[in-house]
Amino acid sequence: MNTRTEVNELGEFGLIDRLTKNIEFQNASSVLGVGDDGAVIDHFGKQTVVSTDMLLEGVHFDLMYTPLKHLGYKAVVVNLSDIYAMNATPTQITLSIAVSNKFSVEALDEFYEGVYAACDKYGVDLVGGDTCTSKTGFTISITAIGEVAPDQFVLRSSARKGDLICVSGFLGGAFLGLTLLEREKHIFLDSPGVQPDLENEEYIVGRLLKPEARPDIIQFFAENDIKPTAMMDVSDGLSSDLLHIATKSNLGCVVYEDKIPIHEDAKQAAFKFGLDPTAAALSGGEDYELLFTLPQSDYDKLVLNEQISVIGYMTEPEEGCRIITKGGNQFNITAQGWNAFKEQ
Ligand code: ADP
Ligand code: MG
Repeated sequence: MNTRTEVNELGEFGLIDRLTKNIEFQNASSVLGVGDDGAVIDHFGKQTVVSTDMLLEGVHFDLMYTPLKHLGYKAVVVNLSDIYAMNATPTQITLSIAVSNKFSVEALDEFYEGVYAACDKYGVDLVGGDTCTSKTGFTISITAIGEVAPDQFVLRSSARKGDLICVSGFLGGAFLGLTLLEREKHIFLDSPGVQPDLENEEYIVGRLLKPEARPDIIQFFAENDIKPTAMMDVSDGLSSDLLHIATKSNLGCVVYEDKIPIHEDAKQAAFKFGLDPTAAALSGGEDYELLFTLPQSDYDKLVLNEQISVIGYMTEPEEGCRIITKGGNQFNITAQGWNAFKEQ
């Protein structure tokens, strides 16, 4: 039988204790964790990378179709992705939550199950956080901490002219998953009796609800003596993220539509929804792949990794940021890539 325990039955300290009592550290750098005024971390001569993100109910997630366990998992993963995007290895997180009385203790247990599943998978320790009540929605704030060998961190702003533009994995899937779930949600709201039609859509739904970060790519760099000239994770969509690297590096870029990696299942879904798969990749976002630039001399090393696609190269700033379509036409890339792309 499902029991429901109200948060105020446990009290703030009882709740924190319940949510954190089984923590076992995985990193020697985690010296002191939950239970005092602060955590203590010793990075033994490495440099420390820190990144924070907030997730708000109704803005970043919709609890109508996001299971709490997935939400906990994703909240951690998207923060770790930022650390990997610095070419660093995440080691600790702090997690702060604001919850309304809509949430039972059991619901929070479920959320933390996802949090700990991600911590285990990526080898990071939860070392602290904060808990407070919310009068509105559920709010999650995570700070991720990582380590990097001195001067191995990679900025967005240091791409060089002629560098290859590369991306890991596949793009556009998460946006198509979101499109599907939003569509099903509206059908459900209009006629609650109708069961959602998610058949054969595991790939795109998974890309949205349970994204993964790319430690394997960072490891591949280390093993092959590769240091990208610039890097970031693809969270806002390829267009917007490419523009960040180009603008911050004071360069232009050219990418080829036929080189943009899109999973077969995502292409199928796009056709079903009447959307352009390239548009989904350009402006969709939430893919959490790594976008990076490398000198052309590293090309031979790249072919060793089939998870990496070369999609274009950096140019003089005067040339702007352009995409060459499959049909050989050229368009400017704009932050809102897909509208502009379709209209021209
Ligand atoms: P303070 O009064 O100093 O803010 P708290 O009572 O909020 O301390 O927190 C006590 C301990 O529990 C601290 O180590 C804090 O980092 C940790 N903590 C609080 N909330 C959470 C949470 N939601 N998840 C993990 N750790 C938490
Ligand atoms: Mg506190």
